[in-house]
Amino acid sequence: MVDALRPGQPTLSIVVPCYNEQLVLEESSRRLLAVLCSLVEARRISPQSFIYFVDDGSTDKTWSMIAAFHERNPLIKGLRLARNVGHQNALLAGLLGVRERIDCAVSIDADLQHDEGAISLFLEKYNEGADIVYGVRQDRFPDAPLKRSTALGFYNLMRIMGVKIIKNHADYRLASRKALEAVSEYKEFNLFLRGVFVDVGFRSAVVPFQVRERFAGKSKYSMAKMVSFALDGITSFSVVPLRFVTFIGLAIFIFSCLMTVFILVSVARGNVVPGWASTVIPIYFIGGVQVMLMGLIGEYVGKIYKEVKGRPRFIKDIELF
Ligand code: UDP
Ligand code: MG
Repeated sequence: MVDALRPGQPTLSIVVPCYNEQLVLEESSRRLLAVLCSLVEARRISPQSFIYFVDDGSTDKTWSMIAAFHERNPLIKGLRLARNVGHQNALLAGLLGVRERIDCAVSIDADLQHDEGAISLFLEKYNEGADIVYGVRQDRFPDAPLKRSTALGFYNLMRIMGVKIIKNHADYRLASRKALEAVSEYKEFNLFLRGVFVDVGFRSAVVPFQVRERFAGKSKYSMAKMVSFALDGITSFSVVPLRFVTFIGLAIFIFSCLMTVFILVSVARGNVVPGWASTVIPIYFIGGVQVMLMGLIGEYVGKIYKEVKGRPRFIKDIELF
């Protein structure tokens, strides 16, 4: 079913965060421009569509190259951030920066590990009424075994922690203007985009694509950055770690109770070591009570944390009035 409100030729923006990408930009802009122009020629997107490079405080020639592309072709536009703020924030700057000028935006990595050919499929899903289209890697073949297993661990950990994310989806996605407006309602400082889009809701679709080798330059995601990214994701969406504290306290408490029973039985049978029970049991007991109370405080901290983020309580989709 085609959404009646969808414009026949939506204005599309391709948002590309770039950090020290001088080695790939020439080729990336050429390929993305080819995709954009072919979609315009096929009348699938409006001629106002454009590419939007976000320079995330690069220290190499990235910005001067973007400026030169813009000079040559006004379909290429750019934004330079004052300093390096990291991939997620750069992406957000781009998406929120374009949202008033477009009907939908696709975010893609500058190294084109994401197959740009899938953009056309994203648009198909958009035309069918999806507000968010997730690009999902078909396999992780080009990744080193270490990166592959850490990525797998990441998705599993997220699931255990109750964070809803799309498996094998890494910020290659289309979002309608409506979805971007909704994301802009999330006022929290640490915005974990992969979780936020799922949290927003709306109609979504998935498009599989083949992930490729980075064709030049090096990955800008170090191990340390990946760990901090995963921690960010969990602490942005889950209070499960706080609840763990309560459960651990409860477990220690129950253990101390069982021990008391065991010792009382031993005493009744006459096997006693003087002073042992009166020393060990209170240690476990008080330890358990303390950890449990910490968990209780944690529950309140969790509530405060949710309030502080000031997230929207609901997002309206359609209203008939
Ligand atoms: N990136 C960014 N700011 C950063 C780090 C990375 O804008 O601080 C961009 C980078 O230029 C690329 C994308 O984020 O377009 C993904 O980074 P990369 O390819 O290095 O990550 P990987 O594919 O290795 O996970
Ligand atoms: Mg990459």
